[in-house]
Amino acid sequence: MLRRNRLTSHSSGRLRRRLIPALANMSSHPHKFEKKAWPFNDPENVAAISCRHVLDGHPILRVSHDDDDGCWQLLCGDTHSSADARVVCLGCMLEQDPSLAELADLPLGWGADRESLLQPWAREVN
Ligand SMILES: [Zn+2]
Ligand SMILES: [Zn+2]
Repeated sequence: MLRRNRLTSHSSGRLRRRLIPALANMSSHPHKFEKKAWPFNDPENVAAISCRHVLDGHPILRVSHDDDDGCWQLLCGDTHSSADARVVCLGCMLEQDPSLAELADLPLGWGADRESLLQPWAREVN
């Protein structure tokens, strides 16, 4: 299912990818939070892009909301190669890190960074 060969790293911390069609959904599965507490406009099982570092437990320190297809990228903040990308469920990521809710209104074409889990998000245009 994963096609990683077209990915390249991006200096602003976004992964260019053709892993998933725009706004694809993951197969349906339950999340622990209340439906009405879901802060994003996207469905809670929408596919997003993360990196293997985050899946290995590294905190999410870089978030990008892609202007071309509305895809969310939830990354560790380091630079990446194509092989680092992983397809994840946005709802599962919010379960893992509820502070992502603060970025639910991040406009298309914007990104946010933080130094650590304890630092506030700083938003800027991608
Ligand atoms: Zn990473
Ligand atoms: Zn999920």
